[in-house]
Amino acid sequence: MSRRLAHALPWIVAAIPVMVALLLASAAEFASAGAILNLLGRLTGIAALSLLLVSAALACRVPGFDLPFGGLTKLWATHHRLGAAALFMVLAHPVLLSLSAATASLDAAALTLVPAGADWAMWSGWIALLAMVVFLAPSFAFFGEPEYQRWRWLHRLSALAVLGALVHTFLLARSLPSALSVGIWGVLAAAALAAVAWRFVFSRRAGRLRYTVAEVARPANNIVELSLRPFEHSLKFSAGQFVYLAPYDRQLAAGYAEEHPYTLSSAPGERALRIAIKDLGDASRAIQSIAPGSEVRIEGPYGDFFPRHDSAEPELWIAGGIGITPFLGRLRHLAATQQSLDARLVYCVQDQARAHFSEELEALAAQVPGFDLTQHFFFREGPLSAEFLATHCPDFVSRRAYICGPDPLLERARSILLRAGVARDQIVTEEFTLL
Ligand SMILES: Cc1cc2nc3c(=O)[nH]c(=O)nc-3n(C[C@H](O)[C@H](O)[C@H](O)COP(=O)(O)OP(=O)(O)OC[C@H]3O[C@@H](n4cnc5c(N)ncnc54)[C@H](O)[C@@H]3O)c2cc1C
Repeated sequence: MSRRLAHALPWIVAAIPVMVALLLASAAEFASAGAILNLLGRLTGIAALSLLLVSAALACRVPGFDLPFGGLTKLWATHHRLGAAALFMVLAHPVLLSLSAATASLDAAALTLVPAGADWAMWSGWIALLAMVVFLAPSFAFFGEPEYQRWRWLHRLSALAVLGALVHTFLLARSLPSALSVGIWGVLAAAALAAVAWRFVFSRRAGRLRYTVAEVARPANNIVELSLRPFEHSLKFSAGQFVYLAPYDRQLAAGYAEEHPYTLSSAPGERALRIAIKDLGDASRAIQSIAPGSEVRIEGPYGDFFPRHDSAEPELWIAGGIGITPFLGRLRHLAATQQSLDARLVYCVQDQARAHFSEELEALAAQVPGFDLTQHFFFREGPLSAEFLATHCPDFVSRRAYICGPDPLLERARSILLRAGVARDQIVTEEFTLL
């Protein structure tokens, strides 16, 4: 399946209930402005529920499910867009219904919005709307960068929003015949429930592999590289993929059993899994002091950064800071399997002291035929520029680009490449934030 189709499919599925309701609408429902507003009000309600359910179904984190989408970060971008569209529909729904009623009288418009007594059909709708506003609001840039754990906690209110919207729809449903309504909502709700059940219940038992920390290397004072040995089964993965790691070590100052995404820096064939972690917040700071012998649990693999099949296409790699990890994993794999490729890595860091793994990268450049390393020091060269790329990689425009690092570098590199004429589909990115 093409990536474009994979991202379009959830929208198409979410549109089905709306299209069915529209096709079943009678001529009378288009006969006056009030009737049309009423129909639009009901359609936005239907759209809100189907968008919410499809979005919930996409939250499933079964390894491999993200591949057609181009990786989990891309899949979650679609999940978030569906959620934002659901919020827009849910807000438009009562407004359109009360405008429709206002064509008869203002009292009727007010009655449309105010639940009378124990009118659960109405209360459930309001509960869904409020829960959605509270859980989705922090996702919008307007409210600033949300604190991850608070955002995650608020996100659980999505269950209340879905439940409220389902009750509201079943008690008030008028747009779809009841058998069809049960069929459509039943299938979508079952998909959403299965995704959530896997994510929060079954994956904890069946989807996580137990590993022991065998070694802790310290390439810098704010980075550790953990070598992990499996208890039983080892993870199968491709170079550049990432996992969720949860440490089970009570000695850690923070982050006990808390899962965080980290890229595998080891080659797929290595006996140990290696993960390089930079101190970027509470949990990643605490893990700097993890001791050999501690247990961690691993869920994955996820991501689709590098091509799944060998290709002779020339590549440009741009890494920023700890965003070097997927490239490190791929290079270690190429060196271990004695493969060559045509790739030029531009490694962007503040200064030499922060060019972590640079000695190993230089050794790999000598070992892997066709691989070349250029370091870009911000303190000397300033922000990455087209001129810098043209000097160190004159044919950069004709290469397929892979970029990984902090958001500002990602944005800068992407805009340099686009302005230089690189096609959008020749630029592959891996974001290190998932919100
Ligand atoms: C695909 C991917 C691969 C990554 N690979 C690496 C790697 O190889 N090495 C490395 O050092 N870091 C990597 N990161 C970043 C790492 O996940 C965060 O630094 C870590 O989760 C921070 O958690 P914290 O509690 O220490 O910090 P916090 O203060 O909680 O957060 C710091 C930043 O990390 C983000 N973050 C926190 N928790 C999560 C989470 N569970 N999921 C997504 N984002 C989160 C926050 O939005 C914030 O931007 C990767 C992130 C992603 C999405």
